[in-house]
Amino acid sequence: MGALDSDVRYLKGVGEARARALNKLGIVQVRDLLRHFPRSYEDRTSFYPIMAAPLEETVCIRALVATEPRVSEVRRGMRLVKFRAVDDSGSVDITYFNQVYVRDQIHRGESYIFCGKLSGVLTRRTMTNPDFEPEDREGQRTGRILPRYPLSAGLSNRRVMQYVRSALDLAEGELPEALPAAVREEYGLASAGFAYENIHFPADFRALELARNRLAFEEMFVLGCALGRLRRGRESTPGRTLPPADPEGFYRSLAFSPTAAQRRAVQDALADMSSGRQMNRLVQGDVGSGKTLVAAACIWAVCRTGRQAAFMAPTELLAEQHLVTLRNFLQRSFGIRVEKLTGAMTVREKREIKEGLQNGEIQLVVGTHALLTEDVQFQDLALVVTDEQHRFGVQQRGALSAKAAGTAPHVLVMSATPIPRTLALMIYGDLDVSVIDELPPGRQRVDTFAVDERYRARLNGFIATLAGEGRQIFVVCPMVEENEDYDPHLKSATEHAEVLRETFPTLRVACIHGRMKSREKDEIMAAVVAGTVDILVSTTVIEVGVDVPNAALMIVENAERFGLSQLHQLRGRVGRGSCKSWCILVSDATGEEARARLKILCQTNDGFQISEEDLRLRGPGDFFGSRQHGLPESRIADLGGDTRLMQAAQSASQNLLAQNPTLAGPELAPLREQVERLFAASGGAAN
Ligand code: ADP
Ligand code: MG
Repeated sequence: MGALDSDVRYLKGVGEARARALNKLGIVQVRDLLRHFPRSYEDRTSFYPIMAAPLEETVCIRALVATEPRVSEVRRGMRLVKFRAVDDSGSVDITYFNQVYVRDQIHRGESYIFCGKLSGVLTRRTMTNPDFEPEDREGQRTGRILPRYPLSAGLSNRRVMQYVRSALDLAEGELPEALPAAVREEYGLASAGFAYENIHFPADFRALELARNRLAFEEMFVLGCALGRLRRGRESTPGRTLPPADPEGFYRSLAFSPTAAQRRAVQDALADMSSGRQMNRLVQGDVGSGKTLVAAACIWAVCRTGRQAAFMAPTELLAEQHLVTLRNFLQRSFGIRVEKLTGAMTVREKREIKEGLQNGEIQLVVGTHALLTEDVQFQDLALVVTDEQHRFGVQQRGALSAKAAGTAPHVLVMSATPIPRTLALMIYGDLDVSVIDELPPGRQRVDTFAVDERYRARLNGFIATLAGEGRQIFVVCPMVEENEDYDPHLKSATEHAEVLRETFPTLRVACIHGRMKSREKDEIMAAVVAGTVDILVSTTVIEVGVDVPNAALMIVENAERFGLSQLHQLRGRVGRGSCKSWCILVSDATGEEARARLKILCQTNDGFQISEEDLRLRGPGDFFGSRQHGLPESRIADLGGDTRLMQAAQSASQNLLAQNPTLAGPELAPLREQVERLFAASGGAAN
C-alpha cells in the first residue's frame, strides 16, 4: 500500500475530529486530498508601497508596525485591535475586528507583510482584517497565489492548505503518471508531479494554467479510454441478426406521418439490428420530438419475427403511460401482446407476467428497474429499450444485456437531455448516436418570460386566471440541501407550497420533493394526471417524462440556480396538449451572465441550440455532472477545461486504443488503474 492509499487521519496535524470533517468533503485517503482542488485562487503576488497601491483590491504591503497595537471595545461583543504601520511612502491605519489574538502576534518595531484591501481618502490609508506574516516568513500566505478550497465545518482554508502540503510531500515521487510520455509530448502537457503541485500551490499564473490543462486533459483522456474500451468490447460482441425490415409496414398503421428525423433514427437502429453486431444506440431528441415512436418501430421489427423486447422507464408512473402508448402503437394494429411489470404489482400478478415472458406469450414487457432486479426470464429477449437514460448509471447500461442467455440483446437508449454535438462523442463514447432534431409539425411553442419579484402580483393573477379555466400549474423550486448555507431568498418547495396555499385558499396545492419515497411521488403525480391537483410545487423531480397535457404554466423560482438545459427540460413539461402554454422564469439575479442566460431561453425553444449556448457560457463541466449521463462525476468544471482541449484528449485516447486496445504494458499501468477506478466509482463493473 502506497502513500496515496493511506488514510488522511494519519497525516500530520489531522487527527480524528478533523478527519471526520475531511470525510464530509469526500476526502478519505491521501489521494482524495490531492484531488481536492481549490475552487478559486487569490492573487497575492503584487507588492506595493502604501501610497502607490491601488485601492479596493487585494494587495500586499511590506510595512513596519509603528504603534503599540491597542484593544478597545466599541460596543458589547465588538472588540477592535488598532495600530499604525509605515513604509517609505507613507502610513496605514490597520484595524482587526473581533480578533484580539492579533495583539499578541504583532509587535511594534517589527516588519510584516499585510495582505488585504486598502481604502482611503487623500493621504489617509486604512486596512481592515488583512492577512499577515512576519517579513522573514514571507511566502506561505502572502506574496503568492493563494488557493481557496471548498471547506466544511471545522476546517479552515489555512488547515486544508497545510494538509494538502503534507499530502504532496508524502506523495512525492509516487504520483502515478497516467499519461504516456508520447501523449504528453505531443500535446505539450505538464507531468503529473508538476500538475498536482501547481494546481494547489501555483508558482505563477502560467504554471497554474499548465497544471489545469494537464489535469483536465487527463480526466477526459481517462474517460475516453474507459468508454472506448466499453465500445470495443461491444463491437466485438456478436448480436442477434434480425432480417431486414421495411418500417413502412409499421408507419402505415399510424394516424400521422413520422418526421424525417424519426425515420432516420429508425433506419439507423434497424440497420444496427441486422448487422450481425450488437446494437448500442442512443436516440437523443428534445422533449416532444417523438422518441417513443422510434422505440415502437424497433420493437415492432423485433416482435414481428417472434422475438421479445423489454422497455424500461425510470418510474412506475412513466411505465404506466408508456404501457398505454405502446399498446396503442403495437397491440391494436399488430396484435403484439404488451404487458407491464413493476414493483407495485402483487406477487401473483408478477408471477403471471413472468410466466408469459418465459414461455413467449408476452412479446413486450414495460417496466421499471424491477425488470433488472426481479428473477425475470425471457424466452428470447432481443431488444432492450431504456427511456430517459440519464437516470440509469453506466453499470446499468449493461446490466439488462447480461440477462439474456446466449447472445446479448440489442440496446436502444433514449434521452431528452440535449448534449452539444462537440461533447456527445465524449459523453456517449460507448454508444452510437441518432439525433432527432425536428419536432412534429404543428407543435405550439411555449412562450417564455424572465421576470423578477416585482412581477409577483401579476404572476399570482395569472395563476388564478389559468386555474379558473381549469388548467394546471407547475412550480419548481431549487433543491435545498440541508448542509447548504441557508439563503432566505431561496424558495424551498415545501415552504413555497405553504405560501401558495395561503394565497390561493380555494386551489388544490400539492408538493413533491426529492426526499419523498418514490411511491409517494408517484401517487401525487397520478393525482396531477387525474386533474385533482391545481398547482404542483416541486423540486426538479418532475424534470423527467410524465405527460400532463392539461398543464399550461411552468413557473421556475430562483431560475438562476438551474442550468439552461435543465430549465429547457422543465419547460418541456408544459405545452404537451393542444392549448397555449407559458413558462415564467422568476429570478432576482442581476448579474449580466445570469440575465443573458435566461434571455436565451426566452428567445429559443431549440434544446440543442440552448445546450450549445450553455456550453459557451458555462464551459463543459455541467454536462459531465453524473446526473445527466450516469458517468462518474467529473471535476473538469472546476478545472476549467475547454472544449478544444477535451476534443484533443478524446482523439488521443482513441489513437492510443487503436494501437494498444488492451492498454497493455508497464508504462500504462497507472492509466489502467485509473480506468478501473472510474468504473468502480460509478458503482460496479461496466460490463
Ligand atoms: P418524447 O420524445 O418527449 O418522448 P413522445 O414520444 O412522448 O416525445 O411524443 C410526443 C407526442 O408527439 C406524442 O403525443 C406523440 O404521439 C406525438 N408524435 C410523435 N411523432 C409524431 C409525428 N411525427 N407527428 C405528429 N405527432 C407525433
Ligand atoms: Mg418520452
